[in-house]
Amino acid sequence: MLKGKTALVTGSTSGIGLGIAKALARQGAGIVLNGFGDSSGPKAEVEALGVRVGYHAADMSKPADIEDMMQYAASFGGVDILVNNAGIQHVAPIEDFPPERWDAILAINLTSAFHTTRLALPAMKKAGWGRIINVASVHGLVASAQKSAYVAAKHGIVGLTKVTALENATTGITCNAICPGWVLTPLVQKQVDARAQQFGLSNEDAKKQLLAEKEPSLQFTTPEELGELAVFFCSDAAKNVRGVAWNMDGGWAAQ
Ligand code: NAD
Repeated sequence: MLKGKTALVTGSTSGIGLGIAKALARQGAGIVLNGFGDSSGPKAEVEALGVRVGYHAADMSKPADIEDMMQYAASFGGVDILVNNAGIQHVAPIEDFPPERWDAILAINLTSAFHTTRLALPAMKKAGWGRIINVASVHGLVASAQKSAYVAAKHGIVGLTKVTALENATTGITCNAICPGWVLTPLVQKQVDARAQQFGLSNEDAKKQLLAEKEPSLQFTTPEELGELAVFFCSDAAKNVRGVAWNMDGGWAAQ
């Protein structure tokens, strides 16, 4: 379905981004990976699906790095599909929240998507086709205590999604957001570990407690499931799905 297209997925050396990159690759899209850590393992995993894979190490908190990455992606094959996924978390009450963590979360989880989007749109407009998928969160729809920066950034990216969708509503470019509930990635494992330590729980019990608090299905959503939703947004059938914030959250936001 996506043969001949290229997707740039930010924050794709791990977790949800890697899951989405692999799902798009299974449909034949060439992939540009981005993210920290060792990129050779993730690169090999995606290459094994039979597509061309590039990698750029841009730090998504740095606009100059983002510009470099967008130039690299343009020369690699273009950005037909842009998945804004890179994100970090910090958990603390507002009065103890380190201002530099606030700045980093806003820069990585929100502002980076503004930069990639503004730089990707001209070529998408020229081609008359594009898909922009913003990985927000159920925290783009509802809040939790102690996550001020994350909730603000994720509500912000849902807003950016709607504006991007509206500005391109008469074109072949769509923009939508995905809003996962709990997904067991390194980002969430840190929160499981903190809970296990705080309450003297085993890893398994800490996971159960985390789910029970918020997610009625008592199940984690998987990167593979989120990848399939991204594939749907890229399909022809989704060409008039514009500006939605689609939760895949086990019923979290339905409560
Ligand atoms: P993760 O920690 O597994 O992956 C995050 C990725 O972003 C990694 O590849 C990391 O290297 C990269 N990254 C971090 N900082 C970066 C930076 N400054 N520049 C470039 N890359 C950077 O986390 P994840 O759970 O897969 O999260 C991916 C996205 O999904 C995030 O936007 C997160 O907010 C969102 N999300 C996660 C969950 C969850 O339960 N895990 C739920 C809802 C939304």
